[in-house]
Amino acid sequence: MTIALVTGANKGIGLAVARNLARRGIKVWLGARSEQRGRDAVELLRAEQLDTEFVLLDVTNQNSIAAAAERIASAGALDILVNNAGIMNDMVAGTLNPILPSQLPLNTVRELYDTNVFGAIEVIQRTLPLLRKSSGGRIVNVSSRFASFAHQTDEKWPPRSISTLGYSSAKAALNMVTVGFAYELRDTTIKINAVSPGTTATDLSGTDARKLAGKPGFGTPERGAETVVTYALLPAAGPSGRFFGPDGELSW
Ligand code: NAP
Repeated sequence: MTIALVTGANKGIGLAVARNLARRGIKVWLGARSEQRGRDAVELLRAEQLDTEFVLLDVTNQNSIAAAAERIASAGALDILVNNAGIMNDMVAGTLNPILPSQLPLNTVRELYDTNVFGAIEVIQRTLPLLRKSSGGRIVNVSSRFASFAHQTDEKWPPRSISTLGYSSAKAALNMVTVGFAYELRDTTIKINAVSPGTTATDLSGTDARKLAGKPGFGTPERGAETVVTYALLPAAGPSGRFFGPDGELSW
């Protein structure tokens, strides 16, 4: 049996990834920082006859990460890790306009890095011993095309400069983390890639999936999950240490 862990799996893209993986017969641990929200999500998926389990996992809390990794280890094995938990707290309230770099409080940047970068690093470090025992471990770091230096320095790219100091720089750091682990793991069967799910209607992007009709350009969480799942299920000959989006490889 293949076993997966998805962080931040109680809603949005994470929940859709968990559902997608579980529908393929994979047992999925839903990591969530809230016991109530996590258990509610598991209940939802179990009502769909999907093999899922809740694990308390706040990626900004070292003890929580360690306890979650131990719980999964004591239950057996792990083949797939999807580092999905993420925040974007550096927009002007109620808009998708970034707070300018000169105005952005450093504590906001720290919070972003704690969740989107340090959290992902530590979850990988804690689960790697289990993933190494898998016949083909897979790690997906859920990134963003806003992390792309190529896009952010392209004057013709419409969303250029969205949140460059906070969210985008944190996801760019996550991309380099991906490259670093891929290099360390190059002689193993583990593959690790950074994957952008594409602009998706979720709480993070401030767009209600039910109001998608009025928001061209926003995909559904299910569509974002498809892209993530593709790289969580890469075959043995698949790439590692690369950056992908819904339409294929992305420029760093
Ligand atoms: P979302 O609906 O806001 O979901 C974010 C998830 O992360 C929630 O389950 C949230 O839990 C969890 N989370 C936040 N901080 C956490 C922590 N400290 N520990 C554990 N879980 C935590 O957002 P989403 O759009 O699905 O985002 C999922 C991922 O996709 C993120 O990494 C995001 O950067 C990335 N992404 C999204 C888009 C987009 O357009 N939506 C585009 C590119 C990339 P709570 O419910 O407890 O807050």
